Amino acid sequence: MKPKERMAIERHKPRELPPEVRIKNFDEIVSGYDPETAKMEAERCLQCKKPGCRNGCPLHNDIPTFIRLLREGDIEQAYWTIRKTSSMPAICSRVCPHEFQCEGHCIRAKKGEAVAIGMLERFIVDWMVEHGKNLMEPCALPIGKKVAIIGSGPAGMTVAYNLAHKGVKCTIFDSLPVLGGMLSVGIPAFRLPRDIIKAEFDALKSCGVDIIGNTTIGKEKTIQDLKDDGYDAVFVGIGAHSSRKLGIPGEDLKGVMHGVDYLREVNLGTHLDLGRRVVVVGGGNVAIDVARTALRLGSEDVFILYRRTKKEMPASQAEIHHMEEEGVRVEFLAAPVAIHGQDGRLNKIECIRMELGEPDESGRRRPVPIEGSNFMIQADSIIAAISQNVDPTAVKGLDIKKTPWGTFEVNQETLQTSIPWIFAGGDDVLGPQTVAKAAHQGRIAANSIMDFIEGRL
Ligand SMILES: Cc1cc2nc3c(=O)[nH]c(=O)nc-3n(C[C@H](O)[C@H](O)[C@H](O)COP(=O)(O)OP(=O)(O)OC[C@H]3O[C@@H](n4cnc5c(N)ncnc54)[C@H](O)[C@@H]3O)c2cc1C
Repeated sequence: MKPKERMAIERHKPRELPPEVRIKNFDEIVSGYDPETAKMEAERCLQCKKPGCRNGCPLHNDIPTFIRLLREGDIEQAYWTIRKTSSMPAICSRVCPHEFQCEGHCIRAKKGEAVAIGMLERFIVDWMVEHGKNLMEPCALPIGKKVAIIGSGPAGMTVAYNLAHKGVKCTIFDSLPVLGGMLSVGIPAFRLPRDIIKAEFDALKSCGVDIIGNTTIGKEKTIQDLKDDGYDAVFVGIGAHSSRKLGIPGEDLKGVMHGVDYLREVNLGTHLDLGRRVVVVGGGNVAIDVARTALRLGSEDVFILYRRTKKEMPASQAEIHHMEEEGVRVEFLAAPVAIHGQDGRLNKIECIRMELGEPDESGRRRPVPIEGSNFMIQADSIIAAISQNVDPTAVKGLDIKKTPWGTFEVNQETLQTSIPWIFAGGDDVLGPQTVAKAAHQGRIAANSIMDFIEGRL
C-alpha cells in the first residue's frame, strides 16, 4: 500500500508499554504523540463542513478547528479552542470512550480508522504543560454570590470551573480525602495518572475555588446548613458510588467484594490481597479496571464472567484489547448463581451458562439461563462489578424528588431539582455514565445556577 493510501485508512499508533512490563506497575500505558506524529495524524482530518465528530462529543468541542490550528502549528490557540467547551481536556483526552463519541462519528471511520481525535487533544494539552503555559483563563471579578457544590467529580468540578469564571465564589465539599470523584478512586492510574488530575484541580484552585475534603454532606453538615450559611444555590454532583449487589446466596462471605468499593480502597492506598484466583463479574469499564488492578497487585489468574458475548461488552475496544494483552480471560455467556464457602470464606462459585434471547430495552440481546447447565469455579475472591446506584446520604432530610432508579428528578433543560435552589447533574442524574457526559451536565447546571442567582430562573 502506498503511504498516502495507508494514511487514509490507518491512524498513527501511539507507543505503549509492553504487557509484561506494565502488569508489574501502575505507570501510564499509552504515551502521547511526538510533534511530528501529531501533525501527520492531524493531516488525516478531512475538515468536514458538517463535522459529525463535534456532535458525537458530549461537550461539543470544536474538533475540526483545534485540529486545523494544530496542523498550522498554533498549538496554544488550539488549546484555547478546546478550553471554550471543556473543563478538563487533559482528562477527557485520556479516558473518554472516543470510539463511541467523537471518533465514532468521524467520516474516516467509514472506510478505515477514525482520526485519533483523543490523542490529538492529549498532544495539545500535554504540549501546553510541557512548555509551562498557563492552563486557565484569568478569573472574573467577584459578583458577591456564593454556591456550594457537593462532590468534586467531573460534574461538580465543571460547575465550579464555569461559575468561578463568572465571578461566583464556589466551595466544593467532598466526603473523600482526594479530589476528582471516580477520576481518582475509580479509574486506575495506569489509564489516568494522578498528576494529570492534580494539575486540573490546581488550576481550578488558582481561580479561587475552595475545596473541602473529608466532609460528608448529610452527616457532618446538611444541605439546609449550607443554605443557612448563606449559599445562594447548591449543586449536587455526588455520582453513583453504591455498588449494586449480585443478589445471590453467599454474597456476605469473606472474599466477596464489589467493584467500586475495591477500587476505592486500592486507590486510597489500602493493600488488598485478593489471592491467586480472582473472578470478576461484569462486562463494563469497572469490571475491566478491577481485573487489571488485581493483576497488578499480584493475583495470577484473573478472569471475568460476563453473561453476554464480546460483541455486547459495553467497555471500549481499547480497554478490551489491553486487558486481553495483559492475560485477563473472559468466560462469556456465564453468570454466577451462588457463592459457596467454608468457615465463612468463599471457595467456589456456582455459575450457569446463558444464551442470548430477544433484544431488551438497551437494544442488546437478553441473556437467558440454560436450565441444568450449572458448573463450579474454584476461586479465592469474587468481585461484582455490575453497576452502581446513587447513595442519597447528601440529601437526607430533604423532600427532593427521585426517579424509580434512585437518581434525582431534574428539569432536563435546567437541571433544577424539585427544590428550586438545588441543582443536580452527572451520574446522580444520568446513572453511571461517562466523564464527558457528567462534565456536560456540569456546564448546563452552571448556566442555570447563574440564571437562578441573578433572578432569571
Ligand atoms: C472504575 C471506573 C472506570 C471508569 N472509566 C471511565 C472511562 O474510562 N471513561 C469515562 O468517560 N468514564 C469512566 N467512568 C465513569 C466516570 O468516572 C463517571 O461517569 C464520572 O466520574 C461521573 O462524574 P460525577 O461528577 O457525576 O461523579 P463522581 O465522579 O462519582 O464524583 C462524585 C463525588 O461526590 C462525592 N460525594 C458523594 N456523596 C457525597 C456526600 N454525601 N458528601 C460529600 N461528597 C459526596 C464522592 O466522594 C465523589 O468524589 C468510570 C467509572 C468507574 C467507576
